[in-house]
Amino acid sequence: MTAQIIDGNALSKQLRTEVAARAQALKAKGVTPGLAVVLVGDNPASQVYVRNKVKACEDSGLHSVLEKYEADMTEADLLARVEALNNDPSIHGILVQLPLPAHIDAQKVIEAISPAKDVDGFHIASAGALMTGMPGFWPCTPYGCMKMLESIGYDLKGKHAVVIGRSNIVGKPMALMLLQKNATVTICHSGTADLKAMTLQADVIVAAVGKRNVLTADMVKPGAVVLDVGMNRNDEGKLCGDVDFDGVKDVASHITPVPGGVGPMTITMLLVNTLEAAERAPN
Ligand code: NAP
Repeated sequence: MTAQIIDGNALSKQLRTEVAARAQALKAKGVTPGLAVVLVGDNPASQVYVRNKVKACEDSGLHSVLEKYEADMTEADLLARVEALNNDPSIHGILVQLPLPAHIDAQKVIEAISPAKDVDGFHIASAGALMTGMPGFWPCTPYGCMKMLESIGYDLKGKHAVVIGRSNIVGKPMALMLLQKNATVTICHSGTADLKAMTLQADVIVAAVGKRNVLTADMVKPGAVVLDVGMNRNDEGKLCGDVDFDGVKDVASHITPVPGGVGPMTITMLLVNTLEAAERAPN
C-alpha cells in the first residue's frame, strides 16, 4: 500500500480562498477582520513565524498589525499593550508570539487576552470551552489536523485515535477534538510504557512530539491515517517530522508530509479563527 498524501498546501489554498471570500463579505458590511501579532525580542524563528502570519493575513484580505518590542520590555508594558488591543475595535484577534523572554510570565499574558480575541486558542477560557464542547477558539495546529481528516471524509466515530504528545497547545486539545468527533482516544507521552503497543491499535495516529522517527512503519497498523505535527531537522539540516515518512507511507492509508502538511494548516486556521472572531464581534 502506498498512502495517499494529505496535501496541507493544497487544502490551505482552498480554505484561504474561502476565508478571503468571507472577509470580502464582511468588508462589504464595513468590517475588516483584523489580527494583531505581538513579538517581544529577536528570536529568529519567531521573527519568521510572525512575518508569515502577517503575510498570510494580507494575502487573504485581512488587516494585520505587527507590534515588535525589545526583549527587555517589561511584563507590565506588555500587559498594557494587550489591554489596549482588547479595546481596539479594529482588532478582532490577538496573538502574542511565544516563547516570551524569561522575565515575562507567558501564561499571565495569555490570560490577559480577551477570550473573544483569543485566536490562538490558548486562553484558559478557550481550553475550557473546548473541553465542555462550548463555542470558543480551537488551537490552530490541532484544528488544522481536524480539517485534514475532514478533507478526506474520515468519520471518526468508532475509530481508535492515538495522540503521541500531551502539550497544552497540540496533544491535549487534539485529543479533545478527536473525542468530540466520537473517536476513542488514547494519549501517549514520555511516560508511556509501550508506545508501539498503543500505536499498533490505532486507526488514526497524530504524532506531536518533536523527535525524529518516533513513529516507524513497524508501529503502524496497515491502513491507518497518520498525521505528523512534528518539526525537526534531519542530519542534512532539512525540515522533517516525527514520522519516518518513507517507511510509514507504505503501511498507512493516508499520511501528511513534512514540510507541506500540518505546518501550512496552522497559519490557515489562525486566519479562520480571526475571521470568525470578526464575524462574531458586535458591530
Ligand atoms: P512539547 O510541548 O515539547 O510536547 C512534546 C510531547 O511529546 C510531550 O507531551 C512529551 O511527553 C512527549 N514525548 C516526548 N518524548 C516522547 C517519546 N519518546 N514518546 C512519546 N511521547 C514523547 O511539544 P509541542 O509544542 O506539543 O510540539 C510538538 C512538535 O510539534 C514539535 O516538533 C513542534 O515543533 C511541532 N509543532 C508543529 C506545529 C506546526 O504548525 N506544524 C505547531 C506546533 C508544534 P511529556 O509530556 O511526558 O514530557
